This record gives sequence, structure tokens and C-alpha cells, in this order.
Amino acid sequence: MTTVPVQRSENGSHQEQRGAVAALHQELVRYGLVTWTAGNVSERVPGADLFVIKGSGVSYDGLSWEGITVCDLDGEVVDGVRAPSSDTAAHAYVYRHLPEVNGVVHMHSPYATAWSARGEAIPCVLTAMADEFGGPIPVGPFALIGDDSIGQGIVATLAGQRSPAVLMRNHGVFTIGDSARSAVKAAVMCEDVARTVHLSRQLGAPLPIAQADIDSLYERYQNVYGQR
Ligand SMILES: [Zn+2]
Repeated sequence: MTTVPVQRSENGSHQEQRGAVAALHQELVRYGLVTWTAGNVSERVPGADLFVIKGSGVSYDGLSWEGITVCDLDGEVVDGVRAPSSDTAAHAYVYRHLPEVNGVVHMHSPYATAWSARGEAIPCVLTAMADEFGGPIPVGPFALIGDDSIGQGIVATLAGQRSPAVLMRNHGVFTIGDSARSAVKAAVMCEDVARTVHLSRQLGAPLPIAQADIDSLYERYQNVYGQR
């Protein structure tokens, strides 16, 4: 547990949003997507050049607003009790370069990360995957933590793709969304399809879905499905 050495402002700004983002981490635990403290959710603060992100090394047990730190879009701490996640620079890069993105999730979930370890994109061979991802889940470059290279890899790989998830090679998954909740949903669905396509591959080659059918499934799910 690292604490921020200097008290920043009043520590308690954006408490409601920090509490909601803290609670969303329980979805990662519920679906078995995270081990120990690896994995984090962040969300842009509406109308401000700020985002909130999990503290570094903070346990998911009893995670509350105090475990979530407020940063500016350069990843510098603005307010918080904990030092921010070591992945903060990657989240900050995404928020700086993709203004439509309001939520980011990072995780090392086992099936999706196994695909990333092979540097292999997950092919779109399930209708549920066409719905949510609109095509394959792409692979981003190998990148070391410490500068902007992970963020650059995420943004460059997702450019021109429908997929809200990217497999960073030999590392794990980043997902984006118009809210933290939608980025968490993409993370849950990414691991689900990674697992199912992996299982399918054990006894043969999964059958492709025609691009026109992928397009039609994606269009319907994104624009028609659900409660309106
Ligand atoms: Zn990681």
C-alpha cells in the first residue's frame, strides 16, 4: 500500500464517482478476471480534464472511494489518499487521444491474456462476438510500462476498429467505453469470447462468419437491441 506523500486538496473530491468506480471493480472479481491486485478501472470526470483510477496495489476487498485517486490527463495526482495505479500513464494517454472514451479497464484475465501471449487476434466466430466487438479482437504491440508506449499501442491498434478491446502482446487486455461500466462490460465479454473460441479450437477449426453477417449482427446489437 503506497500513500501519496503530500496531502492533495481535500482528498475527498468526486467522492460519488470514486465510490461508483470502486464498486465496479467487484465485477472484475465476480467474473474471475483479476488475481491479487492486478487490474484496474478508470473513468473520466464529466466536464473536467480529470479521471479517477484505482490506487496502486490496493486490495479489491472493501475497496471504497478512498482507494480511488483523481488524476489529471497527464496522469499526475490531483487528489487522493493512495498513489494511483502503475497503469495510470496508459489510461491517461487514452483519455488524451480518444475524447469519446470515458472509461478504461485493464486486466490480465487468463483466456484473453493467453491469446495475447501468442500475439494472436481472437477471430470473430461467434454471433455474440459480432454483436459486441463487430469483428476480431486485435493485438497491440509489445510495450514496456514506464512511458507512453502502452498508451500509444492501445490507441494505434483500436484506430479504425469496432472492437472496444485490445490484447496487448505478452501482457493483457485494455478495454474502452463511453463509461467505466461499458468498459467493464467489454472486459467481461472479451474474456468470455476468448474462453469460448479457445475451447472451440481444441477439437477443430471454428467456422468463420461471413463479413456481411458480422456487419448486420453488429448493427442490430449496437442500435436496436435492449430496452429503449
Ligand atoms: Zn498489466
